[in-house]
Amino acid sequence: MKYKEVKNYIGGKFVQSDNKRLDVFSPLNGKIISTVPLSGYNDLDEAVKAAQEAFPKWAGLTSKKRSEVLYRYRTILKNNIKELVSVIHDEHGKTIDEATAEVEKSIELTEFACSIPQITAGEIMKVSDGVVCRTEYVPLGVVASIVPFNFPHMVPHWSLPNIIALGNCMILKPSEQVPITAAKIAEMLKEAGLPDGVLNLINGDKDIVEAICDHPDIKAVSFVGSTKIAQIVYKRATSNLKRCLALGGAKNHLVVFPDADLEMTANDIAASFSGTSGQRCMAASVMIAVRDVNHIIEKLCEETRNKIPGLNLGPIISKQSRENIINYINKAEQSGAIILVDGRNAKVEGKGDKNGYYIGPTIIDYPNNIPMPEEEVFGPVFEIIHADNIEEAMFFENSSPFGNAASAFTQSGGLANEVASKASAGMIGVNIGVPVPREPFSFGGWNDSKFGVGDLTGKGGIEFWTQLKKVTTKWRKQEKTDWMS
Ligand code: NAD
Repeated sequence: MKYKEVKNYIGGKFVQSDNKRLDVFSPLNGKIISTVPLSGYNDLDEAVKAAQEAFPKWAGLTSKKRSEVLYRYRTILKNNIKELVSVIHDEHGKTIDEATAEVEKSIELTEFACSIPQITAGEIMKVSDGVVCRTEYVPLGVVASIVPFNFPHMVPHWSLPNIIALGNCMILKPSEQVPITAAKIAEMLKEAGLPDGVLNLINGDKDIVEAICDHPDIKAVSFVGSTKIAQIVYKRATSNLKRCLALGGAKNHLVVFPDADLEMTANDIAASFSGTSGQRCMAASVMIAVRDVNHIIEKLCEETRNKIPGLNLGPIISKQSRENIINYINKAEQSGAIILVDGRNAKVEGKGDKNGYYIGPTIIDYPNNIPMPEEEVFGPVFEIIHADNIEEAMFFENSSPFGNAASAFTQSGGLANEVASKASAGMIGVNIGVPVPREPFSFGGWNDSKFGVGDLTGKGGIEFWTQLKKVTTKWRKQEKTDWMS
């Protein structure tokens, strides 16, 4: 499938950028399906001006009026799910089922934003005789959201519906690897009646991200991507005195005890580490096998062999990323680790194209004397390390520089609670392979998986995308009854 060339979306119109363009490849077959502009500062400045122009009117609406657009948008998403799924499948490569789940999650995120009028009523209290104090959530102005490739539809929805429901106007910077889905988001919001200028799309890479961090009229920036770039963005945006929340990479540890349910544990872990071909920040990455869990490892290997590239497993986003993953496995093998399931030369089956960037699911077992690298792999690779007891297991988990998710697999409530309380991670699962907190709970990790205060979605998003105004009022003349009145 070939798509029209990708344009920027500024002030309600799709517009060309004069800058050079980049090819967009489909990981399904390695073919060029479109091109995307690498926009410059002038494009961004135009978008910021459009957003500034739209802001007073949009912010001036009641939040109920703003949420009406999102109600209509939700219906449009539901009615067009097939079209969206097909674009996501083409440009990202994930399976139809995975792409469908992605859009369904975006719908849930939109529903949360629809509820914002109900949950952002401020507080009010009589603070002294005749004196009342109340609070209001006030939008920040023009804000920006920079997103990664791995969920071209869902990750923009972590921020976008909340940003606009709360009265801000925004710049969305999609990943240059998957820019086509983002254009669909703009089209559908326009159809839902979003006023021009409230959402603007600026495509590009490093240069435009830096321009966003530097632009004096952008008040806040959210970033989701790798830890290396999250750190760069966080430092640059905050040094320009912007509010910033930058979510980074992950390497999520699962502590597996011998009493864990065999079928459920093996199924959950296999699905977690291979889903979206391992390209998700909440994927299971490492099993800390506590004592003898060989029966679970054997079952996990069996389950893993049922994940077949082209059949029920999508490709990796790019040729380069595929090569990096294979190099990682090669190095692990050279270091003395044992490859229990090897996906390096896996056959592509079903409708899969052999020119697609496929790799089979892989399980690497590190004997006690072989150290596991601490870097994120971001592919369908699961690693196993071994611990003698829960203290040693938690030491390994706590030693990881990341802190997105951690899980316990056990039938014991006591052990599960100990893992939950001692894990150094923001999102904890018990017998769950992908412990994403559903709305209204907020999404956000710890340590090198997040830079900045608070969380990005749910109630955390409300705090991040607004500023709190405190209004104290006195309407009657009176004798002073205390120091405040
Ligand atoms: P990435 O860091 O390469 O890119 C993210 C964004 O930054 C993109 O929009 C990209 O254009 C831009 N960018 C790339 N290089 C840049 C540079 N040098 N300077 C400024 N901007 C730059 O990430 P990716 O490969 O698109 O996505 C995968 C990563 O995202 C993984 O590390 C994954 O764990 C992480 N991720 C984290 C979460 C989370 O919630 N913590 C969620 C999804 C993805």
